[in-house]
Amino acid sequence: MISIRKKPIPTTALGLALHGSRLDGVLVKRSNGSMQVLKSFSATLTLSPLTGDAELVGREIRNHLDQAGIRISQIYLSHGHWDHLSGVRDFPEATVHLPDSERRYLQTDRPPRVLPSIGQDPAIRWQTLHFDATPYRGFSHSHDVFGDGSVVLVPTPGHTPGATAMYVNLSTEHRLLLVGDAVWRVREAQDSSRKAWPVRWFADQDRSQTDATIQRIAAAMAEPGTIVIPTHDLEVQQKLGFFPAWIK
Ligand SMILES: [Zn+2]
Repeated sequence: MISIRKKPIPTTALGLALHGSRLDGVLVKRSNGSMQVLKSFSATLTLSPLTGDAELVGREIRNHLDQAGIRISQIYLSHGHWDHLSGVRDFPEATVHLPDSERRYLQTDRPPRVLPSIGQDPAIRWQTLHFDATPYRGFSHSHDVFGDGSVVLVPTPGHTPGATAMYVNLSTEHRLLLVGDAVWRVREAQDSSRKAWPVRWFADQDRSQTDATIQRIAAAMAEPGTIVIPTHDLEVQQKLGFFPAWIK
């Protein structure tokens, strides 16, 4: 979850996708409560994202963004697990937003779920993310990133204490809901199948909160025009395709 700041307030957001060694990026601009695609770019990495040295892969991705003229100023994390925040060190100039509960979790849980070296890194510009008591699409609280309803964050606690989902409103009729690891696959919310029990035991911090969050996601998914995207759901990704397929 990344947004770009154009002074004085953020106006654009960046989506990145990796498939094999190909990096795709889409820059979208907020416009009257929805998002319009500003530009897209793709690049081929020389290092494998799966087997290459993580630090070097991160540096190579950063270089491609720099070459595309993209400057990251604000980062909104879905949660603090290692595979969702390891890239923040590649953007030391950016502000990284997390609820206080997630910051505490980062500082108290252990590897391999979290990386203490990142959670306690004083060089990272952490910023507390506050939710307003403003209901949004069935969620009790929300945070409107741009202040115009185009990108709205909602709390999805359970998998981790401060887990956060992001609505990206492509238009008034169509929206994406990025749910991080609240569910690993959409069908967990569709048929209440849940994650495999070893994963629940290892990764979900609070089972009853996770179940309540999944029920909210299931209700959100029933709303026409909402596409729920878990981070690790290959089926959803294959159905959506890569840009520009997913906006058609
Ligand atoms: Zn996770």
